[in-house]
Amino acid sequence: MSVAIPKRQLFIGGRWVEPVKGGRLPVINPSTEEEIGTIPAATPADVDAAVSAAQACVDSGDWTRSTGAYRAKILHAIADKVREQKTFLATLESLDNGKPLAEAEWDVDDVATCFDYYADLAAALDARQYEPVDLGAEGFECALRRDPLGVVALITPWNYPLLMSTWKVAPALAAGNAAVLKPSEAASLTSLELAGIAGGAGLPPGALNVVTGLGPDAGAPLSADPRVAKVAFTGSTGTGRAVYLAAARNLRPAVMELGGKSALIVFDDADVARAVEWAMFGVFWTNGQICSSTSRLLISDPLVPGCRLGPLVNELQYKKVVGYVEAGKADGATLLTGGRRPPHMPKGYYLEPTVFIDCKPEHRIWREEIFGPVLASATFETEAEAIALANGSEFGLAAGVISSDLERCRRVQEALQVGICWINCSQPCFCQAPWGGVKNSGFGRELGPFGFEGFMSVKQVTTYTSSDKWDWYPETGPS
Ligand code: NAD
Repeated sequence: MSVAIPKRQLFIGGRWVEPVKGGRLPVINPSTEEEIGTIPAATPADVDAAVSAAQACVDSGDWTRSTGAYRAKILHAIADKVREQKTFLATLESLDNGKPLAEAEWDVDDVATCFDYYADLAAALDARQYEPVDLGAEGFECALRRDPLGVVALITPWNYPLLMSTWKVAPALAAGNAAVLKPSEAASLTSLELAGIAGGAGLPPGALNVVTGLGPDAGAPLSADPRVAKVAFTGSTGTGRAVYLAAARNLRPAVMELGGKSALIVFDDADVARAVEWAMFGVFWTNGQICSSTSRLLISDPLVPGCRLGPLVNELQYKKVVGYVEAGKADGATLLTGGRRPPHMPKGYYLEPTVFIDCKPEHRIWREEIFGPVLASATFETEAEAIALANGSEFGLAAGVISSDLERCRRVQEALQVGICWINCSQPCFCQAPWGGVKNSGFGRELGPFGFEGFMSVKQVTTYTSSDKWDWYPETGPS
């Protein structure tokens, strides 16, 4: 299916708005290297307008003081509209980001599920309000109220463009916040469409604003705006550090979903065919452009790869990944297969699935996040050695363990320093379960109830219920 690429403006205060400086950025189809459209290029003045629109929405109370039940209705309506537009959105995503259509369709399904999930949590919130707290003291009653934070800044990457935006937008809106979303300039089309869908579903003006543009022009002023109550960022560890510092200057909290270099440990008692499939899925799914990609493989059995892939997202990323292939060879790892452009595909940012063996902990391809279809593998002798190799990383997003011995899987899982651990699989992700890492992979959790609570402020409401006077200062008449 071919679709016309919509020419959108910025979405601010419920309207499509021309960027103040009128700039636009090209959209390149990574399969053909051709320009297929443009997106608006926001500058600090546009970000200022978006934050002002969000602040006006907060001040009006139209969204922030609405009931969870009301918000749930609108979020369910967004989910329905996303489902209605599934083919269009998935095609747009595939053209923009290069992921195979089947994967993009899967993402759009997940987007709708995520909106429904947080709609249900919003609906359930009303009954949880004023949850009692047992103070163990007479004469006082305490209850908890959960309020939205206010204006929240959401900054997202290009690897799952609409899904990463949704992981933040859905819980932020469910909790009653007004959001300013800055999607990645490398793939913004579907996030702009989401803005239109949300507006059409009855979301009040200013509750969701979308400003597309370059990181320094749009992301930086957003993360530094003092009116922002919280910054939720997903992207590389380097950018995350800059965003976190900007939030810290305003004493604002942040959630950081950063890079990874996740290990998959395959023991010699594993079912080899299944292990090979999970190992391939773990590193070649979405062309290896997954934060949690299990791009380090620890094995004691040989691996035979074979997989169909789409292109990498853009020329910059293609060159970066090819550079890592060269570094792998130069450092002394053995290139088992791949590492080059498929000879029959002269156009597009395609790279063959690439597998290195004999990797050493000091090799760059073992240590650094490549974000491409490149697997670095090494062997181990003992369980303790496998754990030490897996944990010997600056990152700690995810890891997997494959073995028919479930007791061993549990032992290894408990020893792995990560936020997500897969047993006998790699990569499955469900919006009901928390997502996030430790070490340089960031902090805080998205998804599940954790993702929802993180967009709310908890207020303790303590009431003095005794009829007795407090009587700390005894009443004494004038002497
Ligand atoms: P990136 O860090 O280059 O960009 C992420 C976002 O930050 C983009 O919207 C970008 O425009 C913006 N940005 C850039 N400079 C900025 C600045 N100075 N201030 C504010 N915002 C700025 O990341 P990317 O290349 O888009 O995405 C790939 C990275 O994302 C990988 O490292 C991957 O591991 C990570 N990622 C992590 C998760 C997770 O859940 N932990 C999920 C997906 C991707």
